[in-house]
Amino acid sequence: MTEKRENELLAKVPGRLFIGGEWRSAVGSRELDVSDPATGEVVKAISDASPADARSALDAAVAAFPSWSRTPARERAEVLRRAFDLLQERKEEFALLMTIEMGKPLAEARSEIAYGGEFLRWFGEEAARVQGRYGSNPEGTGRMIVTQHAVGPCYLITPWNFPLAMATRKIAPALAAGCTVVIKPAALTPLTTLYFVKLLEDAGVPPGVVNVLTTSASAAVSEVVIRDPRLRKLSFTGSTPVGVALLEQAASGILRTSMELGGNAPFVVFDDADLDKAVEGALVAKFRNVGQACTAANRFIVHRSVADEFARRVTQRVEEFKVGRGTEEGVVIGPLIDDRAVAKASQLVRDAVTRGATVTTGGSAIDGPGTFYQPTVVTGVQPGSEILREEIFGPVLAIIPFDTEDEAMRIANDTEYGLVSYVFTESLSRGQRMIERLETGMMGLNAGVVSNAAAPFGGWKSSGLGREGGFEGIHEYLQTKYTLTADP
Ligand code: NAD
Repeated sequence: MTEKRENELLAKVPGRLFIGGEWRSAVGSRELDVSDPATGEVVKAISDASPADARSALDAAVAAFPSWSRTPARERAEVLRRAFDLLQERKEEFALLMTIEMGKPLAEARSEIAYGGEFLRWFGEEAARVQGRYGSNPEGTGRMIVTQHAVGPCYLITPWNFPLAMATRKIAPALAAGCTVVIKPAALTPLTTLYFVKLLEDAGVPPGVVNVLTTSASAAVSEVVIRDPRLRKLSFTGSTPVGVALLEQAASGILRTSMELGGNAPFVVFDDADLDKAVEGALVAKFRNVGQACTAANRFIVHRSVADEFARRVTQRVEEFKVGRGTEEGVVIGPLIDDRAVAKASQLVRDAVTRGATVTTGGSAIDGPGTFYQPTVVTGVQPGSEILREEIFGPVLAIIPFDTEDEAMRIANDTEYGLVSYVFTESLSRGQRMIERLETGMMGLNAGVVSNAAAPFGGWKSSGLGREGGFEGIHEYLQTKYTLTADP
């Protein structure tokens, strides 16, 4: 029964490229397979774009730009609002599709739709609020007019871990600002984007305004688009090394760029924390999306006086987690995305244990089918362990004890990354000091999740450039013009 529902849904997802308002096969009819990480089975074959397809997609975005950028903001907003409404109607289909191709439990897939959908509503509302300014120059000899203009055709590259939200977080502000786009989802999870672009077509997005390229040749396809002088903006979410390579390519065309890159979030628990709140916050900050989030807490820096108790409580809760395919009732821990992710979690835990840490629960990969790793807690992690430097991207909660506030800050900031931090304390003054001292673009104070469409999401240091969401998000797709009109 379930399988029938899944097959019917998969049959509804367009398996081709969407270019200039048409669903087309890739040049040479090449295809790539999409698999379910919980079973390892291929679920659908879809078009595999080549550089020639990439050029066609950019042609379409360039051709559609003059008309879309001149479309009244209210009309663009209404298209986004229709898309938001359609997403609510198709919520269960999108949730199931994400669980099939990415593995996250259905309940989490539904939360992602709630979060991701808000970008459509928020930026639809923002579209009509883009304003400039007007005033005399200080010398009183002329008027200064400052206006905002759509940047132009944009290239959007998204990762596999939040297949819907990463797409809406880029497409919605771009369309609201009057830009046209080519989007390239990760080859591991392209189905959600394809089905979402179908939804945008149904919502009335005109031909060429949104184009989608699915490909197994990300580097070659992307380079063609990024090096084309007609492209005006690159927005990328993914790993820091790929972000660096793309920034180098973008430099030759002085492209505007937004970079949402990797993280290594500290989660600091002080001795004055409410431990119940800290444990709840820790479980969601660590195990949401099976730890596969750029915002996932990576290092649990816990005051020595409460470290054992904190470890005991999280271990007890983690032992209750049900592991399985995300479609099964009650599952909290789904599969990791692929074999490499399992190998990485295994290696990081092995290294931490070799250097003196203790595993209190989990600690091993689970035999197939599917790519599963046990939810794991590791205590007493020693300085120098790889797990403190690397993004774990798996269900491993690593605890490092500390003695003083200064020491906690030193450990927390000792990373090239600066995306998000979490702090648990009941002291207002300590919380305020943490806001000043933690080198991250976002912070959760007694909160284990911070993402919100109304807030500026983004990182410091090697975690990226620019912001998505909030008032700031639409400005990533706008450019400023200043005009001086001489007084008559
Ligand atoms: P990734 O860098 O391997 O891939 C991201 C995207 O880039 C995919 O679409 C991929 O196909 C494409 N890509 C890969 N190599 C490319 C190349 N040479 N040229 C052009 N495109 C290329 O990252 P991933 O494994 O898909 O995602 C996980 C990473 O993303 C983690 O580091 C995570 O922290 C980060 N991430 C960041 C945020 C954020 O908002 N800061 C959000 C989600 C994920």
